[in-house]
Amino acid sequence: MGNKEALVIGLGITGCTAARMLADSGYTVTCFERASHVGGRLFEDVRPNGIRVQVYGPRIFHTDNEAVYRFLMRFGAFYPYRHRVLLSFEDKTVPLPLNTHSLEVLFGENHAHQLLIRLQTYFPGKKRISTDELIRSTDKMLIDLGRFMIDNILTLRVNRRSPGSFIPADDSYKNDAMIDIGTDDCYYEDSIQAMPMQGFMPLMESMLAHPAISVYLNMDALSRISILENSAKILLDGVPFNGPVIFTPSIDRLFDYRFGAIPYRATKVAFQDFDRDFCNESAVIFTPKDPECVRITESKQITLQDIDGHTTICTETPYHSMVKAHTEPFEPELNEENLALLGKYMDLLQNCSSLIPLGRMALYRNMSIAESIEQVMQTIASL
Ligand SMILES: Cc1cc2nc3c(=O)[nH]c(=O)nc-3n(C[C@H](O)[C@H](O)[C@H](O)COP(=O)(O)OP(=O)(O)OC[C@H]3O[C@@H](n4cnc5c(N)ncnc54)[C@H](O)[C@@H]3O)c2cc1C
Repeated sequence: MGNKEALVIGLGITGCTAARMLADSGYTVTCFERASHVGGRLFEDVRPNGIRVQVYGPRIFHTDNEAVYRFLMRFGAFYPYRHRVLLSFEDKTVPLPLNTHSLEVLFGENHAHQLLIRLQTYFPGKKRISTDELIRSTDKMLIDLGRFMIDNILTLRVNRRSPGSFIPADDSYKNDAMIDIGTDDCYYEDSIQAMPMQGFMPLMESMLAHPAISVYLNMDALSRISILENSAKILLDGVPFNGPVIFTPSIDRLFDYRFGAIPYRATKVAFQDFDRDFCNESAVIFTPKDPECVRITESKQITLQDIDGHTTICTETPYHSMVKAHTEPFEPELNEENLALLGKYMDLLQNCSSLIPLGRMALYRNMSIAESIEQVMQTIASL
């Protein structure tokens, strides 16, 4: 097995993937996870009624990258899963991304017909058209459609990728900002859309089940590692550690918040159990106009669990901004100020090439599960 050693900090999907790939490449891997369980934002639990839920809200696996899917399938079986989202608008519910049917219900048949002709004329051969493209067109009807989407759909979750863009920065949400010129009512278009048969937790646990991987839960890595800035060395329990250190939490704490805590966006997730088979028509109902709740998820429709007479609903509050040191950040809040702050911390890492920040919070980038895995694959291959 050789004597190469590596550390992995944080055991969300990024850390679990990194640990396994390092072990597969001959490293002896020590992992520190602050929580009492692995999983990070993909953590799952079982409700008293037996229904498995994703504790931080729904995460759906979707990718065009076959290598990522092949890697995951080594650790558990998947079922094909087409994710369907409904938009709740006034007293109507329509498929999201908006499709032909949605336009008819929202605007009436005549107006929808006019819109479709214009969409097809203006964007020949395109299946999905973004809000950005609509508002940049020169057709008033299409610009109005784009404005409708900005005012009524992209209201709470909008997280601009760059000035002037209304497409959510998170790839998993970009279809909120799309129009489908057809009857496709599937949220994602990726060639691979699937969910793990037993959930993400057994998958991640199975990744870590390798003789060269040691896992320490309830272990704040920062009580064990530190950076000797002058010599750019990493110390583990006070002793220089020479192997790669994959670091997945937010990097501000690594430097004791020297420039201040990097802000993040947070949401509250709540669950309610019901004694009936199903509550909703769809796995997710998106409620962008509701000031209290941004989306409602019925876990059973995603997990495909066969439990009669019981169901569980998950609601998520709109995002709010947080600047709080010593908490577990939820998701990046992308704006120029925050990215500049991140840049200052990244500069401190310049000389310390053995510490490799990876994942959603360390890199402060919205990444899907598949993108996180893809990035780990590239990094480990380059070591
Ligand atoms: C609202 C929302 C919806 C999303 N929906 C989707 C979706 O539908 N599909 C999709 O593909 N992706 C989705 N994503 C993205 C997906 O959730 C993330 O890409 C993935 O979960 C990130 O994993 P990670 O390992 O990078 O980070 P995390 O899961 O945050 O893992 C970081 C780990 O580090 C640990 N840690 C923190 N500090 C320390 C410390 N000091 N010492 C040791 N350990 C520490 C934490 O406890 C945690 O376990 C969504 C994300 C959000 C926020």
